[in-house]
This record gives sequence, structure tokens and C-alpha cells, in this order.
Amino acid sequence: MTRPATLPAPAPALATGLGRRGPSAPELCVDLDAIAANCRLLAGRVRGDLMAVVKADGFGHGAVAVARTAVASGATWLGVTALSEGLALRDAGLRVPVLSWLNPVGADFGAAVRAGVDLAVPSVPHLAAVAAAAGDARTGPARVHLHLDTGLARDGASPEEWPALCRAARLAELDGRVQVVGVMGHLALADVGGPSANAAGRAAFERGLQVARAVGLRPRHRHLAATAATLTDPATHHTMVRVGAGLVGIDPSDSTSLRPALTLTAPVVSVRQVPAGTGVGYGHAWVASRATTLALLPVGYADGLPRAATGRAEVLLGGRRCPVVGRISMDQVVVDVGPGSPVAPGDTATVVGTGRDAAPTAAEWARWARTLEHEIVTGLGSAPLRVLRRFSPDPTWSPS
Ligand SMILES: *Cc1c(COP(=O)(O)O)cnc(C)c1O
Repeated sequence: MTRPATLPAPAPALATGLGRRGPSAPELCVDLDAIAANCRLLAGRVRGDLMAVVKADGFGHGAVAVARTAVASGATWLGVTALSEGLALRDAGLRVPVLSWLNPVGADFGAAVRAGVDLAVPSVPHLAAVAAAAGDARTGPARVHLHLDTGLARDGASPEEWPALCRAARLAELDGRVQVVGVMGHLALADVGGPSANAAGRAAFERGLQVARAVGLRPRHRHLAATAATLTDPATHHTMVRVGAGLVGIDPSDSTSLRPALTLTAPVVSVRQVPAGTGVGYGHAWVASRATTLALLPVGYADGLPRAATGRAEVLLGGRRCPVVGRISMDQVVVDVGPGSPVAPGDTATVVGTGRDAAPTAAEWARWARTLEHEIVTGLGSAPLRVLRRFSPDPTWSPS
């Protein structure tokens, strides 16, 4: 992780002071109010537990900040892929149950047991490694969730391996080495959503639960749905849902209006007048058809702007949408602000916005780049040298 985990609270002037003589560097801001609102909406759709999935550094929004906001807004569990992410949540003082579901057999499962991080177990070798790391008088049993592959051929035990995994887990339970507190699956057609898309995955999960019960397991937490199924198919909810994208305003099912949370602004470095016929950037991919004014912004694909959006991207500058012209470079883009534009060095462009003003959203950038919003927000959030300023509903809050 290239970004410091601890950041100062935003100064009020910076939180509002966009515009001329604005910030002197690109800034990625996270609207925690939006995350809180999304979390409350999602929690209102389920009767059981809501797990806030904060993998990939909270989808680029800051895992600890998103986790804290979610826990204050109805989430009762936290979920991550790698164990190290779960340990970081514990180190940050988060006390709610945490589940980590994607680890190699050689991971430090003892650390998970000591930190009270639940582990998903997708295979008999994983179970053996977890059991070996737990079950002494000091640690007590490891809390595990058996992970069934319900249709992705990805993580989780295949339906063929599942009965053996359940039997082995029951034996390890009787040994006092593990406690099977949960069973999880994941739906293949997450971006489609809706009951018909989920029918096969739902049925596979039900069969898996029957097998687990038949060998004597009594998993309290049964979880299958992610954001799309949470919003569109209550039959998938079981005792808990796991939502990540929805927290940060992405609805893969396109059924619900959620609030995006990221804003990327960049200061204008320089402005120049150019005559018709001026080629811009590498390869002169764009040539001015008229005399115009060009503004230079110090952000590019190293900051997570997809180069594939070249030729389609726009930014909000000087109160209007202006096209990004020429190829998107590693660290800079050129904007055509039009002939006679009053835009000046030091003005602030909104490159990605939350949809509250005319700035393009991450969803729009995703369309321009022919990709998913998920890839845009995680790309922006993992950029090096980024100053993250987190807006908070609570002025006394600081993301320590
Ligand atoms: C990422 C992930 C989720 C969350 O999915 P969203 O669509 O982002 O809500 C849930 N479960 C698993 C196993 C995941 O990998």
C-alpha cells in the first residue's frame, strides 16, 4: 500500500475551497456521507446481517474509513479477501466480526485466530492448515465459514468436493480445532441480478446447506448475496448479505439509485492558445480543427484514469463540460476549453464527480473506457502520490 493509513482531517477550507486558487495538486475526495446513505439503504433491504465488503482498500475509498462508516450505518460484519486486510481492520480498532475469504494454504492462519478474524475455507487442505493453526488452549477453535462454489468455477469447493469438506470440518469441530459458524456461496450472474438469473446458484447453495446439515454441521451464518442480489432477489438473503460495490455507490443490477462517493479534482497547470491544425499529445491523435484554448491537467493513467477513454473523455472546467483531447498520458491530459475561454492556471477541473454537478461520474468514465465502474474506482483509489481527503458527516471525525 503506497498510501498512508493515517491522514489528517480535512481543513474546512479544503473541503469547500474548489475553484480558482484551489488545491495545488490533484485530490481524490471520498464522501463518507454518501457511503453512510448507501449503507443505510442496503441495510433497510435485509432482515439479517449486512456484511460490508471492504476488499481492495474499500474499492479504492479507504478500507478503514469505509468500514467505520458502514459499521455506524447498519453494517454488522466486515468482509475482505486477504487475511492481511482483516488484520488491518482489527489493528484500526474495528471490533465487529470480520471474515477473510481468499488465502493460500500457507497463510498465517494462527494470526487470524489470535486476532479473531473468521476464515472462509474452500478446500480440505485449507481446512487442515486452519485446524493445525488453532485448537490449543490458548487460541481456542478457529471460526470458519465453509465456502461452496455456487457457479463461478472460481473460489470455493466444487459440488463434488463439498461433502468431503463438510465431513472433514465436522471431524475438526468434534476435535475442538474449528467451529463452523458459517457457509457461504457467491452468485455468478451478480451483474444481472433478479430471481431468474440466480435460480441455479440459489439451488446449489440450498443443496450445499443440506449436505452440511446432514453431517451434523449447524452453521449460524448462511450467506450468498452480494450487492445485486441484495437489491433484487430477497430469496438469496439467507441470514446475511455481503455488499461491497453498493456501499460505494455502484449498483451492478441498475435497479436502485445509489450515491457515488469519489471526486477527483485537478488544478490547471497551464493554458495556451493554439491555431487550427495544432496536433495534441503523442501521435497527434487529435488535431485542432479551429483556433482554441487548451488547458493542461496533471493527471493521467498512473492516477487511474483509463487510457482507453481517449477520444471520449470529458471533464468539468470553467463551469462546463470540456473534451479531453489527444491521448491520455501517464501523468497528464489536455482539455479543449474552447476559443476565448476565461479558464486560467490555478483553476480547478473536476475530472470525476459524484453526479451532483455536471462533472462526469465514474460510471461515465467506465462507459468511455468500455469497462466496469469497479475498475475505475479501484484504479483511482490505488494511485500513488495521492492525497486523500475524506469528507465526513461528522466535523470532529478524523480517519485515524
Ligand atoms: C466482492 C465480493 C462480494 C461483494 O460483491 P459486490 O457486488 O461488490 O457487492 C461478495 N462476496 C464475494 C465472495 C466477493 O468476492
